[in-house]
Amino acid sequence: MGRKEGGAPSPVVAEIDFDRPGRQFGTLRVPSSRNDSGWGTIAVPIVQIKAGRGPTVLFTAGNHGDEYEGQIALSNLARKLDPRRVSGRVILLPAMHLPAVMNGTRLSPLDGRDFNRSFPGNPRGSFAEVLAHFVDSRLLPLCDFQMDLHSGGIGADLVPCAAAHALDDKAYMAKTLAAANAFNAPITLVLHEPNAGPTLLAAAERRGIPALSSELGGGARVNIDGVAITERGVRNVLQHYGVVAGKPAPDPVRGPSRVMTVPDLDCYVFAPQAGLFQPADPIGTVVKAGRTAGWLHFMDQPRRPPARLVYGTSGLLWCARHQARCQRGDPVAVIAKDL
Ligand SMILES: [Zn+2]
Repeated sequence: MGRKEGGAPSPVVAEIDFDRPGRQFGTLRVPSSRNDSGWGTIAVPIVQIKAGRGPTVLFTAGNHGDEYEGQIALSNLARKLDPRRVSGRVILLPAMHLPAVMNGTRLSPLDGRDFNRSFPGNPRGSFAEVLAHFVDSRLLPLCDFQMDLHSGGIGADLVPCAAAHALDDKAYMAKTLAAANAFNAPITLVLHEPNAGPTLLAAAERRGIPALSSELGGGARVNIDGVAITERGVRNVLQHYGVVAGKPAPDPVRGPSRVMTVPDLDCYVFAPQAGLFQPADPIGTVVKAGRTAGWLHFMDQPRRPPARLVYGTSGLLWCARHQARCQRGDPVAVIAKDL
């Protein structure tokens, strides 16, 4: 089904009928040539639940393989969502970048690529580029809304949030924030992301589709609250778009999502050199500029005292490095501020 869009056609075959009502568990058959199998393919799972008339929404997880809350929530939804309750079309990719998902890593074991730095992709490129090209050129044009579910992975731990890019078009931004508000994570983060261009979120934005990303836990473990927030959030968004009946309701204890941003580089604490980072505060702490963010230890130089790292600004400690060992230039803390 390699339909052409501008350049070369996609070699990916979608073994699913996008027009057929009901629930389908299908695959995207992506070529993956190996030494022992030149015509080898990898079958990326895709699930569609379609009924009646209504919008098309695409939820994806496993863009990075070591981020689990979205993978779990979408797998559960794929089995549980009753097509009789659906007005429209729900497309789910619970394990989008399957090689990384099955490897439990951020980067692909096949081509070493970060899938979320591979858009808009290339139909003649590596596995990640071919799959990214298919998602961009075949799936996104079907969509009225897209959400790509991320977490911190092995490198970071984060206060759960939905994330949107700051958009110049006010009406487009309002639609995007309304979806984030419905998702109702503790934080809605409006990002000025460096190097956003090759991400799936930016690919959706290039097509004018309201789109969200998220960070729903971290540390390459399953965050219990993060799974609950994700499952509830996805249902809220389905209701927001009228795909499932009912009204999205904010969390009765937390209330509406807190809209925040990471405005500039002062919000980041970077490791000045390689070392072992000992944090001063857990994520979610309200911190002040000039206070100690943590200590960088040099385990090969026991005479040398640790370097004290300080916060460059005040706000909420939204993200912290999860791995103790860090390289020069790694962010060890990121502060978010109310928008
Ligand atoms: Zn991610």
